[in-house]
Formats: sequence, C-alpha cells, structure tokens
Amino acid sequence: MLKKEGHSHTEFCPHGSGDDVEQMIQKAIKLGFETYSITEHAPLPDDFKGEYAGNETGLTEASMKMSDLPAYFKKCRQMQAKYGDQIQINVGFELDFLPHHVDWTRDFMNEYGPQTSDNILSVHFMQGTDDHFWCVDDTMPDFERGLLANAADGQTLYQQYFNALIEAVSTDLGPFAPQRIGHITLIRKFQDYFHLPRTYDADTQTILGQLLTLISQQGRQLDYNAAGLYKPFCNEVYPDLPTVQLAQRLQIPLVFGSDAHSIAEVGHGFHTLAAMLNEK
Ligand code: ZN
Ligand code: FE
Repeated sequence: MLKKEGHSHTEFCPHGSGDDVEQMIQKAIKLGFETYSITEHAPLPDDFKGEYAGNETGLTEASMKMSDLPAYFKKCRQMQAKYGDQIQINVGFELDFLPHHVDWTRDFMNEYGPQTSDNILSVHFMQGTDDHFWCVDDTMPDFERGLLANAADGQTLYQQYFNALIEAVSTDLGPFAPQRIGHITLIRKFQDYFHLPRTYDADTQTILGQLLTLISQQGRQLDYNAAGLYKPFCNEVYPDLPTVQLAQRLQIPLVFGSDAHSIAEVGHGFHTLAAMLNEK
C-alpha cells in the first residue's frame, strides 16, 4: 500500500482537537509517509439548516466556515512550500453529499476545486425521522432517534446508507468531483452499542455490491479509513474487512486515511491496515 496519509483534518475543523496541521505534517514525515492529503470538511450550504434535525453542534461544528476558506488555503500553501521537499502535500476537502443541495455543491467545487488536488466525498447526514436529515456519526442519541428508530432494523439502516452512497456517486458534481469515497461503512460507527448486525444479509450485500461496482466502473477510489477502529463502539476499520476484500476483487484502489483530527491520530493503524490488504 502506498505510504499515503489520505484523509486528515486541521485546526480549521470546529470538532477537532485544534492541533496545528503543521505539527500533524511533521508527524507524518517522521512516520515516513510519502504523501499527505489535507482534506478539511468543506463548508455546508446555509439552506441545509432547514432540513437538519438533532444536536445543534452536529450541524454548526460539522465543517469549516466559508469565511475560513482563504486562511485554509493560505495555510495549506505555506505547508507545501515549507515541507514540499520532504513530503508531497495535497490540498482538498472532505465534501458532504447532500441530495437536496447538489447544485450548491457542484458550484462550490467549480469555484474552489481548481485550488485542490485530492478530495473525498462522504455521507455524514442521512434522511430519517420526520424526513429530516440526521448526523450519522455525531451523537448516539441522534443516531438512535433520527436514524435507527426510523429504520425497520439494522439491515434496513445499512441499506439506507448504502443507497445514499449510490446516489452520491451517481450524481454529477462537476469536473472537480471528489475521486475518493469516504468511510463507506460509517453507518457502523455505533454498531456495538446498538448491537447492529455483524454481517450483511443478501439484500444488503446486493446493494453494497452495486455501490462498489459503480465505484469500480467510475475508476474511483475508496477511503481505507482507520478511524472506526478507535471508536469505542465501532472497533473496526471503514470499510469492514469482507468489504475491503470485495473492493480488492473489483480492483478498486484503497487509499489509507487515518481521518486524523489531532497529531496523535496521524498514521493511526497504518501497518495493520496495510497488512490486511494481503498484497502480493
Ligand atoms: Zn471530522
Ligand atoms: Fe468523514
């Protein structure tokens, strides 16, 4: 596996540790990474407020502010200038897919995409209770009330999430659309708390297979994300190992990402994730 840290956050993330991206890059250099992608959560459209339900900070602290974009790019350019001879630094976003804000999202990427070189498309919000959008990975009470209670069972919940991802990858987000799909099993973040199914039933597996087939046909990549391994009620990488193996059979590139929101998390789990790939 390429020694690339493909998913990381910065001091511009309101729910992060506040650690300086410079020190995160210094750690990646120390760990011997060749490439480092800075992928801060892109701003969300203002209009999304009306659709969102749940803990307020799940929305207000989800992403960087629009007004921070100039400072974000400036800092990232400084990092490239200062460390570019030691590590290749990409700048980009972790972009949310919001099905009712496709035009906004495409416009955003058309405007800022030219300044980026590596981006991730993620689904963090899904339609659930009262037809509102709820955060998949913020608080357990919101997950339970907004998403789990709205689904017939765990398999249905998985299917809803994979279908949301199918819609995300099937949507035209323009020439700067992200090439990598983020943590495709994020819906399992609280799996051990809610005793969600360990495996997928035939229907769920079919939908997941459709998702991976699309990603493969599009020549896109998967975020091979270590963060779930360290979440108290997930304890597993994103995606889970059988799905990683299916992706490999479909020849989808898996790009390591710690999803670090702090210095400590940079490179988390890299050796174990690399070993799990069983590459020749
Ligand atoms: Zn984050
Ligand atoms: Fe994410």
